[in-house]
Amino acid sequence: MYEKRQYKLFLAQETFFHSIVSQNSKYYNRLNLQEQHKFLFRTYLFKKAKKFHYIEVHEQAEMPVLISAVAVQLTFGLEKYQFNYFKDIYVLKDDYHYGFYSRPFQGHVDHSGIYLSWDNFMKGLKGLTPNCNMGLHEMAHALAYVNFITQTEEDKHFKKEFKNFSKVARPIFESMQNGAKNLLGDYAGTNYHEFWAVSVEVFFENPVRMRHEFPELYAAMSHLLRQDPIGILSVNKLAA
Ligand SMILES: [Zn+2]
Repeated sequence: MYEKRQYKLFLAQETFFHSIVSQNSKYYNRLNLQEQHKFLFRTYLFKKAKKFHYIEVHEQAEMPVLISAVAVQLTFGLEKYQFNYFKDIYVLKDDYHYGFYSRPFQGHVDHSGIYLSWDNFMKGLKGLTPNCNMGLHEMAHALAYVNFITQTEEDKHFKKEFKNFSKVARPIFESMQNGAKNLLGDYAGTNYHEFWAVSVEVFFENPVRMRHEFPELYAAMSHLLRQDPIGILSVNKLAA
């Protein structure tokens, strides 16, 4: 069995994965031992399935591990977490220009892959930018992409529950389009894709305030992702 062989290979590297992830991810450090083990195995498999490209940035061993770990954080409560459609992940140095847009990008997702700028990725991971986590933001786009655009990796729970999420989220998004200001910030009002990606960032980075200001959105989000960043992961409880 592929998985069994991979699991053995993973065990030989678990300490390496643990040392990188535990030094950089608050989320990981709040998991219990059993969850940490599962988290690292998923991170290992995710990393192994991707080709990482480094553009004008010096490759470091921690880069693909941490990028994979952020994807695994987002999907930790879900069954499907590999984003199989995306084979390529591009790591850039910092803000970059892309296509015809005049605004510099921190990251983006399109048919050709997932693009992340390393400086911004690390700022988000280290919590230096309140409410922002660029890695989670782009992985949120990637998750929506594989479930709704390419439909190559459909997580049944996620697809079904997204409708319930939208029942709560759409009216908030529409109020923002009509000028309402709130915790999510103006960028979330750009379009519904950005609303979703920003909601993911705030859900993980500022969950207490999100639950206080948008209790229904917070609840919908935790049902959708099957996890609760406040109550330390109740992945298993919610999944039951
Ligand atoms: Zn975005």
